[in-house]
This record gives sequence, structure tokens and C-alpha cells, in this order.
Amino acid sequence: MIMNIKLQKDVLKDQNVAATYNRNLFHQHKTLVINLMSSPGAGKTTLLEQTVKALKDELQIAVIEGDLATERDAERLRALGVKTVQINTVGGCHLDARMIAKKLPLFELDEIDILFIENIGNLVCPSGYDLGQHYKVVILSTPEGNDKIPKYPVMFRRTDITVINKVDLLPYVTFDLDEARKDLETINPEAQLKAVSAQTGEGLEDWITWIKDVYKTCSENR
Ligand code: MG
Ligand code: ZN
Repeated sequence: MIMNIKLQKDVLKDQNVAATYNRNLFHQHKTLVINLMSSPGAGKTTLLEQTVKALKDELQIAVIEGDLATERDAERLRALGVKTVQINTVGGCHLDARMIAKKLPLFELDEIDILFIENIGNLVCPSGYDLGQHYKVVILSTPEGNDKIPKYPVMFRRTDITVINKVDLLPYVTFDLDEARKDLETINPEAQLKAVSAQTGEGLEDWITWIKDVYKTCSENR
């Protein structure tokens, strides 16, 4: 424990050191870590609630919630019985590896299969910060418009999966799913696209299957 605190002091000086420290801890404790990013209101927390409901009987889930203020999102996850720690950045527009490193002692990582990190709502800088996660996911909701993919290319280039959320609203909004697919293919040919509605449950099976698959692969490779 004392060694842990000593390590933390060094770790907290530098973002890259902190990211490596987090990554090593996740590896050592066999915890799969997924960093969820999007603009405010795209449905990160709602998707997370559905994801937790689908996985919590099979896997031990924990959550780190990032917001400028309030514990509102953390309370929504706690209501589902998952260990959730809230980070309030008090104006900060992204989470960084040091903020995550500081919170990790609050978790029994050995007992956690998957840790979800919900980043601050912002399509710009969160993509530039390595938290030590295994996968970066960006959620884009249909009311935002498919033009956000070419307009914020860095976010979509740096993420492994794009989740298009709120597909139940497609009849009412200007969002071209085919165009979104083409733009994503141009910007990031490796990226996968999942079209879902966290509200109605449409398409969620595909997303949950992806998580289970990467969890399996990660646990086999460790
Ligand atoms: Mg949220
Ligand atoms: Zn920022």
C-alpha cells in the first residue's frame, strides 16, 4: 500500500507515465478498459446503463464518470448496483491519465472484469488523451448530423468504434447513415460502426457482442 502511494507521486508528474502506469495496472489485474467519448447529450450514460444491464450478471463491471460538475450520471449507474466513481473536472474539458490514476486505488481491480470510463462531453480534446485504456469508443447521435464525422476527423480517426446512437430518431432528423459509413471509411478504414438506439434497444446486441468478444480476446492474451 505504501509502495502504491509512493508510485502514485511519481506517476502524477507526467501524463505519459500515468497512462503507462494505468495500462500496466489494468493488464496486471486483467481488467478490460473502454473509454467512451461523445458530445454532451449523445447518450453516453444511457448507452452505459443499457450495457451494464446486459453484462452485469456475467461480468463484474465498474465505471468512472467524468463531468464538469454533479454526481448525476454516477448516481444513475450506482442505481444499477455497479461501483461508480465520479470525477468532477470543475471546468476541465477532458479526462487525463493522472485523474484516472488518482482514482484507481478506490477500486478492487482484481475483481473487476470491465471498467468503463465515461469522458467529458466534447468531440475535440478527449481523443488526444491516453488514459491507458484498451479501446476508445466515440458515440455520435443522429440529431447531431452525420457531418460531424468529417468536421471532427481527429476524434473519429483515433477511435476504434463509432457508435451511431438514437437511430430510432432517423425518420425525424437529417442524418444519412450511408454517408456516415462512407465518411468513416475514408477517415478511419479500421474503425467499426455500430448503429444503435440505447433508448429502444435496437442494435444493442451487436454492441454487446463486440464487448464480450474483446473481453474474451483480452482475457486470453493476458
Ligand atoms: Mg453522461
Ligand atoms: Zn479538453
